[in-house]
Formats: sequence, C-alpha cells, structure tokens
Amino acid sequence: MDKARLRASATRTESSGNWLLDAMLREDRTLYGALEPVVHATGDALYRQDDSLTHVYFPVTGALSLVVHMRNGKAAEVATVGNEGFVGLHAFFGSGIVPHSVLQQAPGTSLRLTVRRFADAVRRHAGVQRLIDCYAAYMLRFAEQSAACATLHPMLARACRYLLVAHDRAGGREFFLTHAMLSEMLGVRRPSVSEVAARLARVGLIEYSRGIVSVKDRRKLEAATCECYHAMQSFYQRMLGRITGAGCGGPVRNRGASP
Ligand SMILES: [Zn+2]
Repeated sequence: MDKARLRASATRTESSGNWLLDAMLREDRTLYGALEPVVHATGDALYRQDDSLTHVYFPVTGALSLVVHMRNGKAAEVATVGNEGFVGLHAFFGSGIVPHSVLQQAPGTSLRLTVRRFADAVRRHAGVQRLIDCYAAYMLRFAEQSAACATLHPMLARACRYLLVAHDRAGGREFFLTHAMLSEMLGVRRPSVSEVAARLARVGLIEYSRGIVSVKDRRKLEAATCECYHAMQSFYQRMLGRITGAGCGGPVRNRGASP
C-alpha cells in the first residue's frame, strides 16, 4: 500500500490497522491528522540503542523487534511489537532515550506521531492515558513472563512460542525468519537453531527453507509451545479489552494453517 492510500485508510475509516491506535483514536479523533505513514524493509533501524525518542510508531503490517546490545557486540531480542501495540513507551515514563534498538523484523508499514503531539493527546485525554498505562502493564508482564520462560521452559517450546507470534503477525501461512533472527530471539547459537528447525520440520509442524517458515500444522504448533504464548494472549485481551469495554481485537491468532 502506498503512503497516500495508507494515510487515506487511516483518516477516512474507523480502522487504522493497529488495534491500540484505533482505541486511542476513539478517545482523540484529532490524532488522525497528525499520523504519518512510513514503510520499512526487513533490517531497517527505526532507532539505535540510546537514540533520542522523536516519534512513537504503531505497526500496521509487519513487526518491529526490540534488541538490546551488549558491550561485547552480542545482542538479544527482548520483545517484538506488531499491530497490537506501539514503540515509544519510554517517552511517557520520564525518559527521552530509547534503551534498545528498534529494527524492522518483517517488512511492513507503521503510522507514526511525534512524541510531542502524542504527549499532548495523553495530557488532554484521560482515556488515552489509561490505554498507555494498560499497555505499560502488559509490557511489564511480558518481560516477567519472558524471563520466567527463558529460565523454566525448554528451547523447543520457546521456539514454538516465537514462531506462533511471528505467524500471527504475518497473517498468511508463510513468513520470513532467518537463523540469525531466531538465534537472537532464543538467545542460543545458530547450530542450535538449525537443530530445532529440523526437529519441528521432521514432525510436520513447519517447513523451513532459505529463511522462509511455512506453518504446516498450526494446531500442533500451539500444542507444542509452553503456556507463555496463551498466557500473554489472554492477559492482553483482559487488560485492554476491559478498558475499551467492547472486547479486544488485540493480538489476533492466525488460523490460516489450522487443519
Ligand atoms: Zn514459556
């Protein structure tokens, strides 16, 4: 979708394509005019770690990866954000600095706002502030769940969790995911990633070739993951659905490959 059409879609209809932004637009419709569509390819950096925060980003398609870099050059993904959320939360907690890199994980479009314009909406509309608070609670819970998952759950189950989230955001049956990306997600070396992918392929859950993951049996993939995938889905829906009072679109499960 080109930028003009994307802007028109966001300004003329009720849906921007981002669930959280839609909820905020219902609180402050003047935000429509301040939205700026941006298109990014895989690997593009929206922010480098410690950059100044200038804009908040609401993904419409694709996904953004939040990556923390260590002094020795190693890096690990700490979260991904799709059309259920936004990037730039730290601006509302007294920090003008991005504490991680923000990289485009899967190609796609986002709608962005300047931090100044968005902060103005938060100050003037209590409903927007409540949504920010809820999203912050969700991200905090996500960090806690991920820390526990990394300690307690086996790598194969964690790999299934990340594949399910990537599949949800892709919308279709296939999505792009390199060994390097999965290695950063799981915090393991690439040979271990190859072994996990081969095991999942052998039992018919996925096919994996040249960085393209094809989900063959979504139901079995859900059965093979740990409890964390379902816990985070239901937490998001409870938190933000309660605020809007009309149920939550939130992170939508991809049913495309279910038998
Ligand atoms: Zn887990």
